[in-house]
Amino acid sequence: MDKIRMTVPLVEMDGDEMTRIMWKEIKERLLLPFIDLKTEYYDLGLKHREETGDQVTVDSANATKKYGVAVKCATITPNAARVKEYGLSQMWKSPNATIRAILDGTVFRAPITVKGIEPYVRTWKKPITIARHAYGDIYKAVELLTDKPGKCELVFTAEDGEVKKATVHEFKGSGIMQGMHNTDASIESFARSCFGFAVDTKQDLWFGAKDTISKTYDHHFKDIFAEIYENEYKEKFEELGITYMYTLIDDAVARVIRSEGGFIWACKNYDGDVMSDMVATAFGSLSMMTSVLVSPEGCYEYEAAHGTVQRHYYQYLEGIEPGTNPIATIFAWSGALQKRGEMDELPELARFGKILEESVLELVESGVMTKDLALMSNLSDIKVLKMNPFLDAIREKLEEKL
Ligand code: NAP
Ligand code: MG
Repeated sequence: MDKIRMTVPLVEMDGDEMTRIMWKEIKERLLLPFIDLKTEYYDLGLKHREETGDQVTVDSANATKKYGVAVKCATITPNAARVKEYGLSQMWKSPNATIRAILDGTVFRAPITVKGIEPYVRTWKKPITIARHAYGDIYKAVELLTDKPGKCELVFTAEDGEVKKATVHEFKGSGIMQGMHNTDASIESFARSCFGFAVDTKQDLWFGAKDTISKTYDHHFKDIFAEIYENEYKEKFEELGITYMYTLIDDAVARVIRSEGGFIWACKNYDGDVMSDMVATAFGSLSMMTSVLVSPEGCYEYEAAHGTVQRHYYQYLEGIEPGTNPIATIFAWSGALQKRGEMDELPELARFGKILEESVLELVESGVMTKDLALMSNLSDIKVLKMNPFLDAIREKLEEKL
């Protein structure tokens, strides 16, 4: 069989620990035998980030802007323990945060659903994709504490000298205060990424906030979404038969639980933080959660939502054969290949990505899976495989189907 051709390279961001090992195995067993794989390779492993003063992360994000599609392996976000373990010259920022800042993108997280692993919420039939606004609100707030009475004011001084003032509270005793902000530019790019991704995946978009209480702040989010929808996306939505709905955040929560799934839920920063863990847990497992960063200009970076699976890596270093689940990382590759195929008009490449996903799902639905899934599955006849034998079983299925 001739290998599938690529024309434009995929930006490949390698990573750390167990997922770095897995990355190589996935490429060797599932991709290189079938595709004339063209990638521009960036090693985001912590050692190389240190060697380049983290320039490699910046370069990989700029390459994503240039080529439009990237696939990323999980990476270590250094903490004090990692600084010691890797002898780091400084506690480098999270690569995901650096890349997101450069692309100005929004992260969309969606579960991979498969028969035999049922969501805790019985009505959910299709995946729910959460889009979290990743800037501002309480994450960039300033806070104060007072142990005595006094007046708290919010003061804005414009560059031209105009002053706006509001009294927050007249304290009769001790208390706490918080000032937070967001910017139109950030809310607009969040909105555009959400509408764009809804069009791209042909799913409805829901957005929830608390504009009845927060009549200026949250209302402004609602207005920006409404304006961008009316002016830029309404026609496309109507053409595709998808809808945009704004509702109060508490109503959104109630509707999500009653829904069948199959839509995108755009959340403000805090709501997204809380709700993405709720939705992920209710669907089953972090090892079955995919993640894609979408920029307002339409650049895509695909990855698994889980981390580097450190515990499995240390066992692997001791010679224990890993049983790590590679599915979310395979779906990062298949997502990126399908997107590349779509952008470059290479239907064979897009078809490969789709068949790879189908092979994985059919295998798991036939009862063949890694241990983490076996613990959750309600199938009666299950065969548990370690990571590499599982990859080989996927390859067999893939060869059958191609
Ligand atoms: P983790 O890598 O997500 O793993 C936590 C636990 O979840 C594992 O120990 C394992 O449970 C289970 N798990 C996760 N993925 C799995 C898979 N594919 N197959 C089977 N089990 C899986 O989180 P962590 O250990 O807290 O973090 C490790 C490193 O990852 C940290 O340095 C962190 O900075 C980094 N991280 C990176 C990203 C990213 O690059 N996007 C995201 C999150 C964390 P058992 O041990 O019970 O088997
Ligand atoms: Mg969180």
